Amino acid sequence: MGLVPPCFITEIVERDLREGKYAKLRTRFPPEPNGYLHIGHARSIVLNFGLAQDYGGECYLRMDDTNPETEKEEYARAIEEDVRWLGFVPDGVFYASDYFDRMYACALLLIEEGKAYVDDLPEEEMSALRAEGKPSPYRERSVEENLDLFQRMARGEFPTGSRVLRAKIDPAHPNFKLRDPVLYRIVHASHYHAGNRWVVYPMYDYAHPLEDFIEGISHSLCTLEFENNRAIYDWVIENVRGKCGFPEAPRPHQYEFARLDLTHTVLSKRKLIQLVEGGLVSGWDDPRLPTLRALRRRGVRPQAIVEFVRKTGISRNEARIPMDLLEEVIRDDLNPIAPRVLGVVDPLKVRLTNYEGEEWIEAPYWPRDIPKAGSRPLPFSGEIYIERTDFSLNPPKGWKRFAPGQRVRLRHAYVIELEDVVEEGGEVKLLKARVVPGTLGANPEDGMKPKGVIHWVSARHALPVEFRLYGRLFLTEDPEEGGEFLKNLNPEALVVKRGFLEPSVAQDPEDTRYQLERLGYFWRDPVDSRPSALVMNRIVPLKEGYRA
Ligand code: ATP
Ligand code: MG
Repeated sequence: MGLVPPCFITEIVERDLREGKYAKLRTRFPPEPNGYLHIGHARSIVLNFGLAQDYGGECYLRMDDTNPETEKEEYARAIEEDVRWLGFVPDGVFYASDYFDRMYACALLLIEEGKAYVDDLPEEEMSALRAEGKPSPYRERSVEENLDLFQRMARGEFPTGSRVLRAKIDPAHPNFKLRDPVLYRIVHASHYHAGNRWVVYPMYDYAHPLEDFIEGISHSLCTLEFENNRAIYDWVIENVRGKCGFPEAPRPHQYEFARLDLTHTVLSKRKLIQLVEGGLVSGWDDPRLPTLRALRRRGVRPQAIVEFVRKTGISRNEARIPMDLLEEVIRDDLNPIAPRVLGVVDPLKVRLTNYEGEEWIEAPYWPRDIPKAGSRPLPFSGEIYIERTDFSLNPPKGWKRFAPGQRVRLRHAYVIELEDVVEEGGEVKLLKARVVPGTLGANPEDGMKPKGVIHWVSARHALPVEFRLYGRLFLTEDPEEGGEFLKNLNPEALVVKRGFLEPSVAQDPEDTRYQLERLGYFWRDPVDSRPSALVMNRIVPLKEGYRA
């Protein structure tokens, strides 16, 4: 089965290949290196690289770097790393800024053919005339004057923003985008990749089709907000094909698909930058964020992200996908590979008054429904920690955990019953309990039918751990609800707890992902965890209903 689920784009690709329109399918993923990639970009990555994989084509990674003011080498590096982390190998890594010479030559051709002119109008006046559908007073400049002015623009004779090059299409065109769009602007700024060579920089609408044509892209896939820009895309291609070193055919075509959007988070670099630069998160890899590096640090595997994209499909239908679905896919990915171990996030000490010494229980890593073998020795002793939320002095009806007069089974170990509660300042400090003799192991024959099974760790053997429990970044499905997204930030998107893990974990490879029974999936934070000071990220909680 292919990587890209059947959709209108696979239909177009199959038709074009069948009709021999292109010798080879060639796609590209064209991020602007002005921020880090997020899970929304994964849809575009899987689509572009996936099509190349499915149809024997090629896919390039192209930095769409035509804006010197916001782009950085740091971002370009990180983008390439993230694409490779997702599991895709570009057939070429290119920079749009390497094509500036060719783009400039095409602009000179357009001017010579009377299809572009230099406009001196200040920005606001230009917008006002465009809105009214009126021509600029500079529209009828001669070819000679336009050539001279554009070359002088490129030599740096005019200040930033003082003039632009515009396409001469139709000042009153019903598609606003075609009302003599700007092709070039003046920016006196050095570019992270092109250096100081350029003072004029091409606009997206002019640059993008040329980038595609230069690279021999067949299908140029972008998100729906560019639908109206397709007309300029075609205008540029039609005006350079067969000229400027371009073939008559084949030429690239643009197709649009719906962007990926998720509830409870923001998928816009502009907003993500606000969170990072405002210090509201610890950095681009803060596991609360939807960036690929944050998901990676949190412990999500690339396979889960690719599967999520496949599951949610490609269409032209813009819908916000519930975060629940992403979490479900992450759980499905981890379930068969995460050994089950015991840990306590919010510890309450229990002293077992009738138990002395210690014993090591051989406890299986896997539940019965996962066909995997393996176990570890799990120490039991007279002092254990249980989860504070697993005990109640005044349990509600239907309580299945520990309480006065209500026995519980300790997972893999004994049934216990309460003897005494030590309180201090209204808070339960310690429980005294006794082990019911002869109840080791989940043995239905022992006649004990405790209502519940709880997790625990032996106090003497426990590894201290800082647990980082991640929740949703925003309280509302739509972070924009009420108008100001920062107001909807969830203050409990990160909750830090000091707890314990069973000691077997110390022997495992650093990148082991676990299911802590009844708590969720966890792994070591790759940045802050040390063998002597463990920091565990909760990747995702268990499904509601399995949590308690
Ligand atoms: P942002 O809105 O976060 O600033 P962008 O569209 O400006 O994103 P680009 O670097 O231009 O980011 O995106 C690179 C490619 O990824 C583009 O083809 C764009 O259409 C696609 N893309 C960006 N965001 C999404 C998304 N949420 N879902 C699907 N594709 C996306
Ligand atoms: Mg963009």
